[in-house]
Amino acid sequence: FNAGIDAGGTLIKFAVNRNGTYEFRKFPASQMDKAVSWVNARLDGADINLTGGRSANFGSLLGKPHRLVPEFDATCQGIRYLLSEEGISEDSFILCNVGTGTSIHHVKKDQYTRVGGTGVGGGTIMGLSYLLTGMQHYEEIVESAKRGKRDNVDLTVGHIYEGSVPPIAAELTASNFGHPNLGNSPAKKEDLLASVIGMVGETVSTASVLAAAEARVSRVVYIGSSFVQNEVLRDVVAGYTKFRGAEAVYLPNGEFSGAIGAARWS
Ligand code: ATP
Ligand code: MG
Repeated sequence: FNAGIDAGGTLIKFAVNRNGTYEFRKFPASQMDKAVSWVNARLDGADINLTGGRSANFGSLLGKPHRLVPEFDATCQGIRYLLSEEGISEDSFILCNVGTGTSIHHVKKDQYTRVGGTGVGGGTIMGLSYLLTGMQHYEEIVESAKRGKRDNVDLTVGHIYEGSVPPIAAELTASNFGHPNLGNSPAKKEDLLASVIGMVGETVSTASVLAAAEARVSRVVYIGSSFVQNEVLRDVVAGYTKFRGAEAVYLPNGEFSGAIGAARWS
C-alpha cells in the first residue's frame, strides 16, 4: 500500500491508499512529532511520498525511506483524481488552493501553469481573526462568523451611492472594513470574523475569475482546508465567482489533493 503526506504551513494532510480506497487524516503542523509517530506506528511497509513546503523537514524526522514530490505537481495530480471520482471531465480549468497562502493555477490536460497567488489566504483568516478578537481556534472562528453581519464592518457600493442608482451592484463590497460607522459603535466579534472571511473570499475569488477570463475557462475549482466547515467563505467565493460569470466547484476532500497526488505519484 502507499501513502501521500502533504506537510503544509498549517496542517499536515495524509492520504493512505489501501486497496484503492483512501483514508484521510490531518495533524497540525505544530505537532509534527505526533504526525511522525503516527506514520511510524501505522504505515509500516507503505511506500511513502511527501509533498508540501514542510516535506523536507518532515522527511528528516521520519526514520523511513520516502520520496519528495513537488507540491504543485502533486496537487494537480490529486485534483485530476478527485474530479474523475466526481465524474467531472474538465480539460481546462483554474485551480485556486486557499491554504495558509493562496496559489492559483491554470490546469490544462496534463499540464499546469501557475498564474499567480496572493498572501491573503487561510493564514490571514487565522491571524487577523486573532488580532481582532483574540480567538484562535479554527472551529470557533468559523462557527462564530456564521452569526456575523458584514454590514456592520464593510462599506458596500450601496452605502456610497445612498439615494442614487449605483453603476454596479449595490451589495458589492466597496471597501473591506471601510464602514463609515466604524468607531461609533464597536463591532461585535462575530461581525469582525464574518468580514475577515469575506475579505479573504473576495480577494481569492477576484484573482481567480480574472485568471479564468485570461485562460478563457469557465470553471474555478477551489480547494484548501480554508473551506472546511467554512460556509461563510464558501458562500462568498461561490457567490462572487458566479457573479463574474464563472462557476465555483468544490470537491469532497479537496483539501487532500496534495496528499492524494503524492500517494499516486509514480
Ligand atoms: P500551504 O499550502 O499554504 O503551505 P497548508 O497546506 O497547511 O498551507 P491548508 O491545510 O490547505 O494549508 O489550509 C490551512 C488553513 O485551513 C488554515 O489557515 C485555516 O484557515 C484553515 N483550517 C481548517 N482547519 C483547521 C484547523 N483544524 N486548524 C487550523 N486551521 C485550519
Ligand atoms: Mg497546502
